[in-house]
Amino acid sequence: MSKGIQLMFDIKDLYQEVIVDHNRSPRNFGKLENADTTLEGFNPLCGDKLTLYLKTDSGKINDIAFDGSGCAISVASASLMTDAMKGKSLDEAEILFNEFHNLVTTDDDYDADSLGKLAALAGVKDYPARVKCASLCWHTLHSALQGNNTPVKTE
Ligand code: ZN
Repeated sequence: MSKGIQLMFDIKDLYQEVIVDHNRSPRNFGKLENADTTLEGFNPLCGDKLTLYLKTDSGKINDIAFDGSGCAISVASASLMTDAMKGKSLDEAEILFNEFHNLVTTDDDYDADSLGKLAALAGVKDYPARVKCASLCWHTLHSALQGNNTPVKTE
């Protein structure tokens, strides 16, 4: 189904760079004025906290932003996710959510083309506690798109 990725000796360094970069200068960071959906997420294990802001229109994510504080993985993941989700239809968002979930929880091959920079987070699957850090923003988005307004908490 997916063609996976040819692992090169330096791919881990490359991925590390993406995470460091997105943690240092997170994209789409800050409150989104006139957001139509706002939802909070909290990962008590690590202390990651974020608020997700969404503006959707005709079945599409027109704008998305986040703020909050957390570890490097949680911030980088939210930064990468908001970048990837902007302009996506709700159906595409659901597909990407599932692809990301597989990326960080299974050993299955993943489609590096459709995940793009998100593939940088593949390494967290070896660290179960870090999976929660990386997934927090995704679960928060998923819940928000389903119309839930109860803050999301990882277990
Ligand atoms: Zn964390």
